[in-house]
Amino acid sequence: MRTVRTVAELRSALGAARGAGRTVGLVPTMGGFHAGHLSLMRAAGKENDVVVVSLFVNPAQFGPGEDLDSYPRDEAADAALAEAEAVDLLFAPSADEVYPAGFSTRVTVSGLTDVLDGDPERRGAAHFAGVTTVVAKLLNMVGPDAAYFGQKDAQQALVIQRMARDLDLPARIEVRPTVREPDGLALSSRNAYLEPLERERALSLSRALAAAEATVGGGERSAGPLLAAAHAELERAGVEPEYLELRSATDLSPVERVNGSTLLAVAARVGRARLIDNTVLGDHPGGKPPGDPPRQSSSGDPSRKERI
Ligand code: AMP
Repeated sequence: MRTVRTVAELRSALGAARGAGRTVGLVPTMGGFHAGHLSLMRAAGKENDVVVVSLFVNPAQFGPGEDLDSYPRDEAADAALAEAEAVDLLFAPSADEVYPAGFSTRVTVSGLTDVLDGDPERRGAAHFAGVTTVVAKLLNMVGPDAAYFGQKDAQQALVIQRMARDLDLPARIEVRPTVREPDGLALSSRNAYLEPLERERALSLSRALAAAEATVGGGERSAGPLLAAAHAELERAGVEPEYLELRSATDLSPVERVNGSTLLAVAARVGRARLIDNTVLGDHPGGKPPGDPPRQSSSGDPSRKERI
C-alpha cells in the first residue's frame, strides 16, 4: 500500500491502473478505523481491481463547538489496518490540498439535509454541505467506478446518493450494512470517547431500535407504540435523545405508520460522545437489524495483491 498526499500523486498513481482498464473503488473516511471502515474496504476490494481509501478529517463538516480538534487521529495505526485489508492507496491530503487559498465553492443538497441531523437545532444543513462538498471533490479527485458508504450514517448515504444522481456523477454509490459490536453497539470512531459506564448507557440506542423492531415484529405498525417502546429503553439508561424519529428510508419524509421501508433514526449525547444509530423497519435493505448484530470479521482477502 502506498500513502499519497496530493491530487497530482494520486492521479499519477492511478494512471497506469486506469490505462489498463482496471476498476477503482473508493472508501472515503475520516480515520480512526474500526470494523465498520474495514468492512467497506473489503467490499470495495471484492468488487474492484484497485482500492483507494481517503483519510481526511474534514473541517468543513464540523460545526463550532464540535469535536474537530479532539477527533481520533492515528494515521500510522490506520495505515496498518488498511494495508491488512489489501488497500492499494491511502490518500491522506492536508487541509490546504483539499481547500486551497481562495476556495469558495459549496455543493449542497436541499430538502434531505433540513431534517434529523440537518435540523438547525442539531448539526444543521451546513454539516451536510461540508460532507457533500468534500465527497464531490473526492469523487472528482479519484474518479472511482464505485464509492462505499455505511448505512450507520443513513442520512448521509441518502444525501450522497441524491447528489450523485442530481449531478450525474458517474460513480456508483454503494451503501453497506452497519457493523456492530457483539452486544449491538454500532461501531463509531466516537465510541473512543466513552468511559466504561457511558458505554453501557450508549447501548440503549441499539436497544431502543431493537425494541421498536420487536414491536413491529408483534404486528404493530403505528408510530406511537413503536416510538414509546424505543423511548422506554433510552429512559431506562437515562439517555435523552436529540431525536428519535420514524421517516421514509428513501426520502426522509415523516411517517406515521411503518409501511414498506421506514427508517427509525436516533441521535443522543452520551458523555462526550454524540452518537447516532438507525434501523430500517419493514424490510432490511440496509442490513441486519440491531437486535441480531452481525459478527465482526477482520481478515483481508489474501488473494488480492498490490495492483499499482
Ligand atoms: P467516518 O470515518 O466516520 O466518516 O466514516 C467513514 C465511512 O464509514 C462512512 O461511510 C460511514 O458511514 C462508515 N461507517 C462508520 N461507522 C460504520 C459502521 N459501524 N458500520 C458500517 N459503516 C460505518
